[in-house]
Amino acid sequence: MTGPGKDFPILAKEIYGKRLVYLDNAATSQKPNSVIDTISDFYRSDNSNIHRGVHYLSEVSSERYEEAREKVSSFIGADEPAEVTFTAGTTDSINQVARSLEPVLRGNEVLITGVEHHSDIVPWQLAGARLRAIPMDEGCDLLTDSIEITDRTKLIAVSHASNVLGSVNPVREVTRIAKEHDIPVLVDAAQSIQHIPIDVKDIGCDFLAFSGHKMYAATGIGVLYTSERFSEIMPARGGGGMVDKVTLEGTTYLKPPLRYEAGTPHIAGAISIGAAIDYMQGIGMDKIRRDEHEVYSYARERLLETDGVTVYGNTGQMCGSISFNLENIHHYDTGMILDKMGIAVRTGHHCAQPLMRTLGIEGTVRASFALYNTKDDADALIDGIGKVRMMYS
Ligand SMILES: *Cc1c(COP(=O)(O)O)cnc(C)c1O
Repeated sequence: MTGPGKDFPILAKEIYGKRLVYLDNAATSQKPNSVIDTISDFYRSDNSNIHRGVHYLSEVSSERYEEAREKVSSFIGADEPAEVTFTAGTTDSINQVARSLEPVLRGNEVLITGVEHHSDIVPWQLAGARLRAIPMDEGCDLLTDSIEITDRTKLIAVSHASNVLGSVNPVREVTRIAKEHDIPVLVDAAQSIQHIPIDVKDIGCDFLAFSGHKMYAATGIGVLYTSERFSEIMPARGGGGMVDKVTLEGTTYLKPPLRYEAGTPHIAGAISIGAAIDYMQGIGMDKIRRDEHEVYSYARERLLETDGVTVYGNTGQMCGSISFNLENIHHYDTGMILDKMGIAVRTGHHCAQPLMRTLGIEGTVRASFALYNTKDDADALIDGIGKVRMMYS
């Protein structure tokens, strides 16, 4: 294997005696050797709990953990590492914001989009907010001119890129409008952080959430960026490591970021995000964006040219995922047959039931791309689809 794929040992695997064509990256990405080695080296030589010990190993792990925070901070263009909190993932990040803002959100409204993942829907409902979606056109492009903000709107929460369609939302335009009304914006970057260079100051959001496992790092770790403006909100969770003084009468909290990291965090996970960032920066985010775009556009064009294939969504900028269906063939059957050819895709509603309702379908087949996918992978998918159609003709 040539190109970045050679750095990912799992891609050398055969499935049913066939070359693995891994196109389920929106669910989770594979890991390069450098990330795998970083995790095992940490447990082999540096493992200890952080921020509490006076001993040597504890200092080493604390330093490595904080170094990972610094890498994240500069990777997303934050002002300082204190704006970066490690969480368990995108879902956890959004739930923490929902819990912290619950006193403001309860009985009020959160503006979202019609393509959101359940993770950017359910936490707001649990916090007692009502949801309204920003209108979109037929291709699922947001109609930012139609954003309507009322007295009850307390937050706008939008995904940067859809995990289903691959559509990129105009988040900069959304934050510009939100600022006119002094409303905070949360950006769910779970499907953009691995594909597009991101600068939180340029986007102008107050919160940005993403997961490690979709950007070549470990599962169970994620990030919540919180702008300085919201640095003193109520912590969503309490416990060890985040407090200054605790008495039975009351407690005072540490400053961010530790204020938001109750309990022992996923230390190796955080360090794995640092290693994944090193890996991506070694290639260069602009190069990743360019090369992926070439493969993505190629796959999309070939799908659009294939008879009996419906491709969903069409916006000015796209990345990562492509959702489609084959005429008269259930998405699940398509996925099962592709699997037998060694092609890993995902089928179903992709945690976006409201979007499925809008599209008038139950589910799709989703092929989602990462930096190691090639035009050969796209060709294998198209060939596979041809075979599926033949079986059903
Ligand atoms: C995957 C995903 C999430 C949830 O991420 P977890 O890692 O499962 O917490 C949220 N939003 C989008 C757009 C996603 O793709």
